[in-house]
Formats: sequence, structure tokens, C-alpha cells
Amino acid sequence: MHFIFVFYFCSINSLYHKFLSSEAQNYIRDTAVFISSDLSASAKVITSPPSHAENEVLTVTPGFSSIPTKLLEEFLRRVEGEFKMRKNKPLIKKCAKKIILAVNRLSLERLNWKGLHQPHIREYITKAVKDVSAGKLFLAYNFPWWRNSPVNSQYAISDTPLKQTYDFGTSKANPTKSILLPMYTDVDMSYWNELIQREHGNINNRDVVFSVGKEIVKVTNKYLSAIYRLPLSDIPPPINGIIGYWQNYPYGGAWQLWMPGYIWPEVEKQMTKPSKNDDVCVAVNAFSSRSSFSNSALQVVELVMPYFGLKCRE
Ligand SMILES: Cc1cc2nc3c(=O)[nH]c(=O)nc-3n(C[C@H](O)[C@H](O)[C@H](O)COP(=O)(O)OP(=O)(O)OC[C@H]3O[C@@H](n4cnc5c(N)ncnc54)[C@H](O)[C@@H]3O)c2cc1C
Repeated sequence: MHFIFVFYFCSINSLYHKFLSSEAQNYIRDTAVFISSDLSASAKVITSPPSHAENEVLTVTPGFSSIPTKLLEEFLRRVEGEFKMRKNKPLIKKCAKKIILAVNRLSLERLNWKGLHQPHIREYITKAVKDVSAGKLFLAYNFPWWRNSPVNSQYAISDTPLKQTYDFGTSKANPTKSILLPMYTDVDMSYWNELIQREHGNINNRDVVFSVGKEIVKVTNKYLSAIYRLPLSDIPPPINGIIGYWQNYPYGGAWQLWMPGYIWPEVEKQMTKPSKNDDVCVAVNAFSSRSSFSNSALQVVELVMPYFGLKCRE
């Protein structure tokens, strides 16, 4: 117990410098993904026994986007007559007795409500967790040229600014199109930031999706050629491309990591209902003590349910 407690208050960076050589640290940085060295070292403490479950993947036949669509349909069915969806219409002001804030950390930071300005809550919002920027680049082609590689793989991690590269498959449409996800990184967005700014001018702090120009394709091809061990001349120009970018408002980041010095379950509890006197709850994964994955976003909803007199189904 004492061991875990020490880890809560120490960063991974500090742990690395105490126990690892520079070479070992660099090796971890080059080969690991989804890791930030200034986060709490306790993120690396394994608290559950190793799983012996089969490597089975459960999925949803009509696609994962069917989950929110179904949830919305069900919600609208149940509140029929009581609630109207307003799209592209001027905002209206309404008074509510009970509120659930299901918005990102940065949005909570900017929200002007006294409950979120209490000193301890303000500290949790701004210091307990840290936004992690991320970016994804998608390129579309008429054929999957990378499958001609002598080292073809559906997934590659590289110590290049692309970091992770995925074969995103070939459509069944006629004619077929193939998608490559050359870059998926949360390591350092500054390089991609610079390229995006050069192609799009000064970007607005609310922009989150960008088209891809010649320079981005050129540098991407340089790294793809090294990853797939194919000459540059074997890489055709893409027919389309897009960069998704999680840094700007309202996201602030793709997900959040815990900073050293905070007891996660305690922060999670306080953030779920920040004010004792107001019926306002926060249902967002940013302060989850479990993980930054979407299953934990659903568990966060279960934490809010008792405040609305609801029980979760087992
Ligand atoms: C690039 C990326 C890859 C990921 N990969 C995976 C994965 O492979 N597997 C996995 O399980 N999870 C993954 N996740 C994490 C998963 O998406 C999150 O855990 C989950 O979406 C968190 O849910 P949430 O409800 O807390 O926040 P969100 O899903 O971010 O929802 C918050 C909503 O609030 C809206 N909003 C913000 N501000 C305002 C405002 N002022 N007014 C109105 N609306 C507002 C936002 O538009 C957003 O729709 C990934 C996330 C990212 C960004």
C-alpha cells in the first residue's frame, strides 16, 4: 500500500531517471505508445492480476457509431413531447433544476459557474489531470500500395513523427478504395502543428480537421518509404487526405493523464458532484480513476446515476 502511495506522488520521468539508463529511457520512448513521461508513476502500477482470457475481440455488427445513434433514438423516444432537438437554430435560455455536464475538461475550465470555481475543484480541473494532444492522418488511395512491402504489417510503431501506422483496410465499394492511417501520435504534435500552419496559415483555435497538402504528403512519404522499405517511386499520390487534431477547443486534448500528487478515486468522487448544494453533476471521462477508454466513460455515467435516484443494472 505504502509502495502505491509513493507512486501517486512521483512522476514517471522521476522514476526513469532514478532507475534507468538514458539508453533504456530512449528505448522505451521510441517503442512505447500512449505514454507521457510527466504523468503519475502510479499509472504504471498493475493493480489487477494478469488476464488469461482468449484474445477475443467483441464488436458491434452495424459499426460502433450505431451505439450513440441508438442511445439518442431511445432517449428521444422516451422523452417524446417533453423535449425537442434544435439544430442550427438560435440558442434559447431555459432554467433547469438538475444538470449533467458531459463536456470536455477544457470546456469545464472555461465554464462560468461558481461550483467549478471553488478552489479545490478548480485545482482538480486545471492541475490533477493533463490534456494530451493527439493527431491522426488518413490518406486514401486507389490501391493499397503498402501491401507490396517486404515487411508489410497491419500495424507499425516507428520512432518517426508518424509514430503509429495502420492499414485501415479496403472498401467493398466499386471501384474499391484503400485507406492508410500513416500517422497516429500523441507524443509531440508540434511538428504536425508547424506543417498544418504552413499549409493553412494561422489556424483558428477551434479548428479540429484539416485537409492535407503537398508538403505533408511529401514528409509522410519519406517516413513511409523507410517504414515499408519501398522506394519513394512506389508510393502513389493520395486521392484524398485529412488530419484530425485533438488539441483545440472544446476538446483541449484527446484524453487526459493523471499528474503526480493526486489520489484518483478522491478526485473522481469530488468531480462527479462538485457542489454540495447544487444538483449539478459532471459525467466526463477526464477525471475517471479507471481509464481513458470509452468503457470507462460509460462507467462514469453510472457514478452519476445515484444522484438522479437511478440504479445501474448489473
Ligand atoms: C483520437 C482518439 C482515439 C481514441 N481511441 C479510443 C479507443 O481506441 N478505444 C476507446 O475505448 N476509447 C478511445 N478514445 C477515448 C474515447 O473516445 C473517450 O474515452 C470517450 O469519448 C470519452 O467520453 P466523454 O463522454 O467523457 O467525452 P467526449 O466523448 O469527448 O464527449 C464530450 C462531448 O462534449 C461536447 N462539448 C464540449 N464542450 C461543449 C460545450 N461547451 N457545449 C456543448 N457540447 C460540448 C463535445 O463536442 C463532445 O461531443 C479515443 C479518443 C480519441 C480522441
